[in-house]
Amino acid sequence: IRYHLLKILILGDGNVGKSSFVHRYVSGQFNRTYKMTVGVDFSLKTLHWSDKEKVRVQLWDVAGQERFISMTRVYFKGAVGSVLMFDVTDTSSFLKCHQWKQDLDSKATLPNGSSIPCILLANKSDLSDWAVPVDHIESFCKAHGFFTWMATSVKDNKNIDEAMRRLVEEILSI
Ligand code: GDP
Repeated sequence: IRYHLLKILILGDGNVGKSSFVHRYVSGQFNRTYKMTVGVDFSLKTLHWSDKEKVRVQLWDVAGQERFISMTRVYFKGAVGSVLMFDVTDTSSFLKCHQWKQDLDSKATLPNGSSIPCILLANKSDLSDWAVPVDHIESFCKAHGFFTWMATSVKDNKNIDEAMRRLVEEILSI
């Protein structure tokens, strides 16, 4: 059996649902009994990818340090993929994705120099007051080198496993 250890970064503004996403993905639950205060929080999940491959996904959540939008290089070191999340009801969290992606592209590159695969997640899609139009998300996604985007709801457990599966597939295909 072949093992892959994949370091994946979870980026995005505060309050968009990053730590809920990690918690949902790793433990299957929505409500947490505690919340990380400050610091990088990382969680691990093992996927039985195929008969011959297991994947250990290591998720690095910025956990409360989003105000230092320019994260240190240590955080990016060795990362092979990234999730960039915004809240569909919060335009400013969408507009900030531009900066997050620039920071990512300048600090995390593959050995061949190209940028690491990043999936754009439009979270809180269960809420009715979307403030970001779908065509804006689509054109932003195309213009800034994301391989795809998906609407997620951590609350309703919508597209969480699917999004991570797409990302892992993309990483392993490189
Ligand atoms: P973080 O600061 O990006 O880590 O965000 P949190 O995970 O702490 O989530 C911020 C708030 O949004 C919390 O109150 C969550 O319960 C809520 N939240 C997270 N995901 C969703 C979602 O998909 N739908 C709704 N309605 N609320 C969500």
